[in-house]
Amino acid sequence: MKYLLTVILMTLALAGCSDNKSNKDKDSAETSQNKGEKPDTDDGTEKPDTDGGTEKPDTDGDTDGDTDGDTDGDTDGDTDGDTDGDTDGDTDGDTDGDTDGDTDGDTDGDTDGDTDGTEGDGKNCDLKVGKIEGKAGDHNRLNGYPFNSMHVVVMPIEFSDATLKWSTIEQDLEKAKKNFEEQSYCQFSLSWEILPTVRLTNSLSEFEDKTNGWSKWLETRSKIVKDHGMDLDAPMGNQVILMANPQFQNFNISGGRRFMEFYIKNEGVKNIPGTIVHEGGHAMGLEHAMSVEAGSKTIGFDEDPAEHFNCDDKSGAAKTTCEDEREIYLKNYGNPHTMMGMGAHSLEEFNLLYKRFFKWVDLENDVPLISTDGTYRIYAHDQGKKEASQKVGLRLKSGNGKYTYWVEYMTTSRHEKNPGNGVMLNLEDYTKNTKDDEYWKTTSYLLDTTPGSITGSWLQDDERDASLQIGKTYKDHWGGFEITPVKKGGTLGTSDAWIEVEVKILK
Ligand SMILES: [Zn+2]
Repeated sequence: MKYLLTVILMTLALAGCSDNKSNKDKDSAETSQNKGEKPDTDDGTEKPDTDGGTEKPDTDGDTDGDTDGDTDGDTDGDTDGDTDGDTDGDTDGDTDGDTDGDTDGDTDGDTDGDTDGTEGDGKNCDLKVGKIEGKAGDHNRLNGYPFNSMHVVVMPIEFSDATLKWSTIEQDLEKAKKNFEEQSYCQFSLSWEILPTVRLTNSLSEFEDKTNGWSKWLETRSKIVKDHGMDLDAPMGNQVILMANPQFQNFNISGGRRFMEFYIKNEGVKNIPGTIVHEGGHAMGLEHAMSVEAGSKTIGFDEDPAEHFNCDDKSGAAKTTCEDEREIYLKNYGNPHTMMGMGAHSLEEFNLLYKRFFKWVDLENDVPLISTDGTYRIYAHDQGKKEASQKVGLRLKSGNGKYTYWVEYMTTSRHEKNPGNGVMLNLEDYTKNTKDDEYWKTTSYLLDTTPGSITGSWLQDDERDASLQIGKTYKDHWGGFEITPVKKGGTLGTSDAWIEVEVKILK
């Protein structure tokens, strides 16, 4: 069903949600995917599919359900040997994976002295909980998410011989809710209902069966959903099903198409709020935040990746090679600084382009398109607060007119090598857009302005210094402009932190 969205959301600067989010709690996360569809067993970095097929969740490399033998439940594949899911190898002995060294004595990574992991308590958003928006049929996400909320319907499931080891559902959802409130500047609410646990007479082993287990699960799951008066294939407005059951076949947590599947390990879960936010992002229509990996270059070639990697025109080994090269170039999870990239486990911020998906930022007022030379000031957008008078980003057109650069000032990423000292550049429309109306039409591609500078054990190490630092100039690959961050100010760690960039239009 195609129809034009007429959603116009005012990006009111609602103060009071949280004055400061300089320290974010550090949690785990997970992977992506589907509506319960057929398994894939590759490297655990696939996008949610968009073909309406029936992929199963993958079985490796991801947070929950991973098979790499670590116990941190993360998705970053780090090799530092600790179990807190970060990559800094810190030795502070806490369990929240933060690196902020706060002194409030708790381990939730914030500084306000309580233990809920969220700053600014007592100043929470006055957002309604329990509100269900839309109705069956409201599902078109091509032009952005049409609601101000997500309502999660949790369906706990147990087998005759396996109980669900997720006792902190409420607390985890509460943390995810606060994270959405902060990220959205109090414009987005998460609500939920937890349905009574369904106790199946089936044993876990019936679903472990490699031959019949999956089809049996599809059938069983579908019946459970129908028994609750819902339908996995029917759009449900802002409602998203979260099915939680004991893990089998090492399936991972996944999300997409208004549906999240949480396969919970026998040892339970930890640090899972980031997983809820990330998978919720998929369920609402976002794909991963990618990066461009062009070896020693920032951009690899002049043409669109969809033209350069014309894999469908090839066959056999050539096709495989083409697809492999495309996958390397368009790096899945490639942006470690953000929620929909490899930053979910640490509750990193949605990048600015993805905040636009929710309409938390206004294109003209908050992230204007720049077409004249000048020095422009932008403020940190990842501190839980946004003033109407303060721009939080810039947009610039590539010289070939096809792509849009999003320039943003992210200050809280714990993966950033030089925090607060540069701007991040993400490309919009860099490759063929999706036509699946349950997903947003575009995907963000982080550009590495210091390509090939870091070779570490973590797949995203090279992107840790992707940002364009003060004093460095980036020239658009297609000759449209030059941009140079020149100065920073305000107070880093607050929403008053700013950076100024000089823009010179060349075409
Ligand atoms: Zn994902």
